[in-house]
Amino acid sequence: MSDHIVIVAERKGTTLRRVTLEAITAAITLLHGQSGTIHAFLSGSDNDNSLISSANELLQYGVHEVHIAKHAHFEPYQATVVLPALTDVIRELQPKYVVIGHTSHGRELAPRLAAALHSGYIADVTTIESSADKASFVRPIYAGKAFERRHFQGVAPYVLSIRPNNNAPAILVEPVEITNPDEHIHQVNCEGIQLSSIVQHVVKRINEEIDLTEAEIIVAGGRGVRGPEGFAILKQLADELGGAVGASRAACDAGYCDYALQIGQTGKVVTPKLYIACGISGAIQHLAGMSQSRTIVAINKDREAPIFSIADYGIVGDLFEVVPLLTTQLREIRQ
Ligand SMILES: Cc1cc2nc3c(=O)[nH]c(=O)nc-3n(C[C@H](O)[C@H](O)[C@H](O)COP(=O)(O)OP(=O)(O)OC[C@H]3O[C@@H](n4cnc5c(N)ncnc54)[C@H](O)[C@@H]3O)c2cc1C
Repeated sequence: MSDHIVIVAERKGTTLRRVTLEAITAAITLLHGQSGTIHAFLSGSDNDNSLISSANELLQYGVHEVHIAKHAHFEPYQATVVLPALTDVIRELQPKYVVIGHTSHGRELAPRLAAALHSGYIADVTTIESSADKASFVRPIYAGKAFERRHFQGVAPYVLSIRPNNNAPAILVEPVEITNPDEHIHQVNCEGIQLSSIVQHVVKRINEEIDLTEAEIIVAGGRGVRGPEGFAILKQLADELGGAVGASRAACDAGYCDYALQIGQTGKVVTPKLYIACGISGAIQHLAGMSQSRTIVAINKDREAPIFSIADYGIVGDLFEVVPLLTTQLREIRQ
């Protein structure tokens, strides 16, 4: 067993996702200055020429070796289709850890990989505590009300998924002149991939300009927003701040916005630097998705609303007055 670490690289279009760079940071933490190599697994369609530039980028962020798996059926992404290629790479490299982003892709892939390898899996890791001979992993439990510290035992490789937006992303190391990238970029043999089903078409329900799970600022609306027009007001504030719009389940259920915006226990888990909750009461299921935000601002006309108990700043008032005022003030400051 080596001290190598494999990260599973994720891209949005042709761009590496921030969580991939955070996975590199996690791998560096796990190496703890010891000798060992960081490998990245990158998958995509067989005619995707941008994979090579992503691989080169990974090398510049401190990854030592990149393994590219290309297949006609790897795009659109399906965990079950990519899994055999990834499992082969892991079996060959025998790394100590496999680090995967706790994204919608990663959440599907990581437990399947652990099952295929008969190894342990720790999900949704928020902190890695690593020393030369041991690593512990902290993760939220009971919908974020408590944290537990776990460590692996038994036979590696160990699989962990890291919560996006929680680690600092890897820093672009001094660009290295790679004279022979072929030495660091390897093609994975993907012949004989068995398919039980094929995704024929993916319908994009929403054009998310900023991915909620990676957004640094989120303006979220609840039932208090009263309708799609209310969400337009939130969007203006979000645009002014360069942030994304999120929602409570009640707002989605009421048809005010798309379910893709839902934050919470059964929605997305977000960790922005700033979370502005507008007309959201603060039910435990909503808090499960946003309570790890660095700064929480609540705007609610009910001073007894539970959201105020976790908010860093609270504004008791009507969001239809407060939000446009904030937007105007921000616009004026900018000009
Ligand atoms: C199994 C399960 C899973 C769930 N998963 C989720 C989840 O993932 N995400 C989620 O959000 N919920 C989830 N829920 C639902 C959750 O329990 C709450 O019902 C929901 O979060 C309430 O949403 P809300 O705060 O927008 O609505 P409400 O509780 O109705 O609160 C609306 C708030 O708006 C305020 N308000 C009204 N008008 C104004 C105004 N003009 N200005 C300012 N404030 C105003 C009110 O004072 C009130 O506090 C789940 C529930 C269950 C049972």
